[in-house]
Amino acid sequence: MTERRLDPLTGEWRMFASHRQDRTFLPPDEHCPLCPTRPGGPPTEIPLPSFDVVVFENRFPALVREPPAPAVAASELYPVAPSAGANEVVVYSDDHTFGIAQMDADRVARLVAVWADRYAELGARDEVAYVFIFENRGVAVGVTLHHPHGQIYAYPEIPPRPRLELEAARAHLAEHGTCVMCDVVGRERADGVRVVASNGSFLAFVPFAARYPYEVHIVSQRHAASLLDLSDPERLAFAELLQTVAAGYDRLFGFPLPYVMSMHQAPTDDGQHQAISHLHVELTPPHRSAERLKYLAGSELGAGAFINDTAPEDTAVRLRAAMSAVSA
Ligand SMILES: [Zn+2]
Ligand SMILES: [Zn+2]
Ligand SMILES: [Zn+2]
Repeated sequence: MTERRLDPLTGEWRMFASHRQDRTFLPPDEHCPLCPTRPGGPPTEIPLPSFDVVVFENRFPALVREPPAPAVAASELYPVAPSAGANEVVVYSDDHTFGIAQMDADRVARLVAVWADRYAELGARDEVAYVFIFENRGVAVGVTLHHPHGQIYAYPEIPPRPRLELEAARAHLAEHGTCVMCDVVGRERADGVRVVASNGSFLAFVPFAARYPYEVHIVSQRHAASLLDLSDPERLAFAELLQTVAAGYDRLFGFPLPYVMSMHQAPTDDGQHQAISHLHVELTPPHRSAERLKYLAGSELGAGAFINDTAPEDTAVRLRAAMSAVSA
């Protein structure tokens, strides 16, 4: 069963993919399917003895180019649709331990170039409305393979969180005539207290209304709707700041900090979203401290209202120290 169903209570589409139950789950390192296929060694997902960045289609996809017909009949109350789209895996390098924090900026920039290419190619497909680039890192956020990798989901609709952001940005533009994220960048630069790292083109800060204690957003300082709007020097600056933040996260508690990295860019449905789409990355680590995790519970899951028990201005001090220790 691979299909999408609309929740009539919220108007949100949900994806169903029962074959994902059979996914490979935390194999021992010597059986890593994302390592290169060494001469004389067992075959992996990648039939190459070495590689830089590799992209391939997820073997257990929730969205596919030619989806099967839904298993259940649709009705007016319960719309059902085929799972059109794509799920891709992006393997960051052929080194089993080499994540963004360990790479140099040039290598991260090659990853950024691959992301930009996939955004362009998947976004050009008629059935794709939104290309979502993300990384789940660490067992605490449900990772099933340790080898550093990210994913790309190409959705046939704009998914709920980006849609919410676009609606807020549209309202802000109507009221003030400006892009809300451009205004946020100006305010964060002026305040300074939540900034954790920056360079000439990008700014990293704990958001004013952060959901997670150590949440960090990395934002283009000028209005750019997607990776495709960045110049080569800007892509390198983006790569540098991503690397700085990832390495700083690992310094924070002295272990590789689990996180979800989400990249928000313009939808690709030709819906004229350029003025209200401002490229940014949201990093949401579940840790509240070295030992304790934030769990989504009643208020978050039942009401959709996050409670954060730390002041963003305080966690920014700790993050700034960890990040400057890295780049020094
Ligand atoms: Zn591996
Ligand atoms: Zn903007
Ligand atoms: Zn966002």
